[in-house]
Amino acid sequence: MGEAKRRKNDRFTEAQYQQLERLVASTYKRTRDGLAAARSAGPDNSGALVAAIHADTVGQVDALTEDFLATDREGPEIKARIACAKGCYFCCHANVELTIVEAVAVARHVASDPDLARSALDTAPKVDGIPPWTRYDFRIACPLLGSDGACSIYEVRPRVCRAHVSYEVKLCEEVLFSGHSRSLAPMMTFGWPRSVSKAIHQGVTLATAHAGLQADNVEMTAALALILRSPKVVDAWLRGEQPFPRYEFDGGAPHGM
Ligand code: SF4
Repeated sequence: MGEAKRRKNDRFTEAQYQQLERLVASTYKRTRDGLAAARSAGPDNSGALVAAIHADTVGQVDALTEDFLATDREGPEIKARIACAKGCYFCCHANVELTIVEAVAVARHVASDPDLARSALDTAPKVDGIPPWTRYDFRIACPLLGSDGACSIYEVRPRVCRAHVSYEVKLCEEVLFSGHSRSLAPMMTFGWPRSVSKAIHQGVTLATAHAGLQADNVEMTAALALILRSPKVVDAWLRGEQPFPRYEFDGGAPHGM
């Protein structure tokens, strides 16, 4: 798939596609090894080892995105189009679909802050089972969104939050405030971080499943509330039990989240 294909799809070069394929394989190996270490560690250390897998994968998203913007011929133009900025909170009203590895890592962080933990526990019943457009239309914010409009867990935020990079802040705003978000057109986003995140997701999910562990996607607020209420579910998951409710929304996110 060379330059002709890239022009047709306005997507990536052959080298970039190959980079994504290598990323699936390298993520698989690192996750497999990380999970093996976590499973052989005692309960006191297993959570930290799972969190280290998350730290590694989000570092990859950030580094590969920076690399793309610095080296791709369209990097400067793309960088100039990116609308996301600190304090812009419109998209932080979406359901956040993530792996259990990510949920465990974020929960460790949230558990260390009583205000964030309370926020997650209070929000969980409000978003239980609701589709993403309803959450937008009811304007139910992420429990980790700070009062200044910035993410309170920025350094450890999930991959999907890093991968949603908008070119259209007006549409982001409209999605949140229109009251009929489902009927709006999909928004334009920077595709590379999303593709990196998808490749990593594939590697993490395969390694988790091959380790005999529950490998479903979960919804962040629900998973946080479960772990905060019952921290032992992390050890149960590492033993091969399936304690997490699977996120089963099957209609696709309407606005690129
Ligand atoms: S985790 Fe942070 S970036 Fe992600 S939706 Fe919540 S507040 Fe926004």
